Amino acid sequence: MSDYDLFVIGAGSGGVRAARIAASHGARVAVAEEHRVGGTCVIRGCVPKKLLVYGAHFAEDLNDAAMFGWDVPSCSFNWPVLRDNVLGEVSRLEGLYKQTLATHDVTIIEERAVLAGPNQVRLASGRTVTADKILIATGAHPHMPQFEGSDLAISSNEVFFLEKMPKRVVIAGGGYIANEFAGIFHQFGAHVVLVNRGDTILRGYDEQMRDRLLHISMTKGLEFRFNSTFQKIEQNADGTLLATMTGCDDLDADVVLFATGRRPNVHGLGLEGVGVAIGDRGEIKVDEHSRTSVPSIFAIGDVTDRIQLTPVAIREGHAFADSQFGGKPWTVDYDNVPHAVFSHPPIASVGLTEGEAKNKLGQVRTFTSDFRPMKNVLAGRNERSLYKLVVDGGTDVVVGMHMIGPDAPEILQAAAVAVKAGLKKADFDRTVALHPTMSEELVLMR
Ligand code: NDP
Repeated sequence: MSDYDLFVIGAGSGGVRAARIAASHGARVAVAEEHRVGGTCVIRGCVPKKLLVYGAHFAEDLNDAAMFGWDVPSCSFNWPVLRDNVLGEVSRLEGLYKQTLATHDVTIIEERAVLAGPNQVRLASGRTVTADKILIATGAHPHMPQFEGSDLAISSNEVFFLEKMPKRVVIAGGGYIANEFAGIFHQFGAHVVLVNRGDTILRGYDEQMRDRLLHISMTKGLEFRFNSTFQKIEQNADGTLLATMTGCDDLDADVVLFATGRRPNVHGLGLEGVGVAIGDRGEIKVDEHSRTSVPSIFAIGDVTDRIQLTPVAIREGHAFADSQFGGKPWTVDYDNVPHAVFSHPPIASVGLTEGEAKNKLGQVRTFTSDFRPMKNVLAGRNERSLYKLVVDGGTDVVVGMHMIGPDAPEILQAAAVAVKAGLKKADFDRTVALHPTMSEELVLMR
């Protein structure tokens, strides 16, 4: 008999969910974690990032408060206070994750584990453990392009621990992390330059949303350099950095942050030895049941590089556990997964962009609402929101919803239910507006 029914490698969001659900189905489960329980999302991703986004937003709110009658005589920002409070919250959440595992009788092994066979795992301490099934949920790590001085740059792993708030930040990349941290650093008073290799930000998002974010960001004073590639980073005598690129002028910086994608954590896991197949992007190849090329070994989350989002990893872990240990097989539906960029202001989307819809459906109708939120009007903030519905011209079904503006992710999560349910534009039209809100625009577009 094996030591465990299930051995999970990696206690991130997906691994913890799989372990907990499998255990609740009666399986004997162990989970190994080499770093901290909680994984990227809780420890050095979504959660601390979102807390920084909240912290950053006070810069605008405190400023806007004057027009609402508040006298805010002087305010200054203290980075170490926010940093340490955020790190404290991360530790609290890590404790809760451990507690959840413990209450479900999941054994937590706080060391690195690698595959030693189809049903065998070797721990860093040298011990070998057997399991009927093994789940790899090791996540991904920031991809850092290698060039002269690239080791002087930091990634999103280090950004939460900065000793002091930098005055000048250069960010490489134009995706999620680049735009989110561009907003955060800018709100905290830093001068931010975002350098991207292509000629656009947020490739894959609806063009009008990207253009709006770019426009708002530039109006606020963020700078962008496109079609530029890093060549060199040098350290000046005073410790500051000088970045040299092709395609744009040199840039001085206190911090250079690389946000150029994340790669699956497969290195040294023993995959080749056991015969687990890896794809072109370094991802573990899996079928719709998250099964790898070795029948007893499964993989979920970022290490499979399907959609690199926490709720997707969680759902994959849940489906795996129900299917393998609960006698309730189901698979994850990857259609209409909502997603958001927590930029300033945030963007949120579900379904097809206008371009994708035109390619897929041919006949497409779009509806947009371009408006200044009430709060911005009184505050004298000239920042406009943009909502867009993409509708199948043949069936009237809403196939895409895209928003940029305050609270867009909060609004879109609820509205995504309508898109997932395949509701028609006519259903939106016959829903009475809830006034005065921003979200009422969703049912008022004609
Ligand atoms: P993204 O994939 O979002 O963006 C990567 C950016 O880096 C793109 O602009 C890309 O350019 C550029 N790039 C890629 N490779 C290179 C390279 N070798 N040299 C220079 N530039 C390069 O990655 P992030 O790192 O921002 O985030 C990683 C993932 O984490 C996201 O894809 C997302 O799945 C997840 N995430 C989700 C968040 C959320 O849900 N709010 C927040 C943060 C992360 P190009 O467009 O030309 O490819």
